[in-house]
Amino acid sequence: NEALREAMTALAGSKQEVEQKNLELERLATRDPLTGALNRRAFHAAFDNAWREAQRTHGALTCLMVDIDHFKNINDSHGHGVGDRVIQEVARKLQESVRGTDLLCRWGGEEFCIVIGGLDAAASAAFAERVRMRIERECGAGVREVSGLRVTVSVGVELLSAQTGSTAAMIEHADQALYRAKRNGRNRVAMPALAAAPAAAVPTAQQDADSGCLND
Ligand code: GH3
Ligand code: MG
Ligand code: MG
Repeated sequence: NEALREAMTALAGSKQEVEQKNLELERLATRDPLTGALNRRAFHAAFDNAWREAQRTHGALTCLMVDIDHFKNINDSHGHGVGDRVIQEVARKLQESVRGTDLLCRWGGEEFCIVIGGLDAAASAAFAERVRMRIERECGAGVREVSGLRVTVSVGVELLSAQTGSTAAMIEHADQALYRAKRNGRNRVAMPALAAAPAAAVPTAQQDADSGCLND
């Protein structure tokens, strides 16, 4: 009986170890190592699921492309180490701004893609604007290696509509909106052409202080 008990304990221990290893493996396979955001492969699978669910329930779905402004200058002036820290700070702010059910992906070097359910055009614009302001206000200070660093992002927004045929089309349209935001001067949000303009949805200072982002 004693030998059996010892064998059972050893077995339980190694089972726990295997489960731990599996969790680590899953994280390695689905997350970007610098930021912990979803990698593209995991993001595409999750976006497809969210898309199907939104189609089935006629729910709202918003896709945002977020790109750090003049990031090359940050690398050139302060080095890649500081550049990496800026990417991490922006990712952290974005992660803090979304709910557990939303998707945050590191789309490319200094570019992120977010997918959020349940927001109409005005709420999507307000969310994007709050995130933009939060990053402008807080991200530079979060990079302690450089004092007075200015970090801003431009954001392109696309909403699911009867005309959007696929997740790829949503991403493409969010990307086009992002480039409009860049062309119009950066550090701003661009909505789809027919949706509410973000200026109309910019929260007042009080609202912003009260609510912050979605999960505040
Ligand atoms: P814009 O406002 O138009 O977005 O200008 P930008 O300088 O941000 O954009 P650009 O595409 O010219 O430069 C992006 C730079 O990001 C170029 C690349 O070397 C750098 N980069 C990409 N991935 C990483 C990374 O993981 N770490 C660091 N430090 N830099 C990266
Ligand atoms: Mg950029
Ligand atoms: Mg870019």
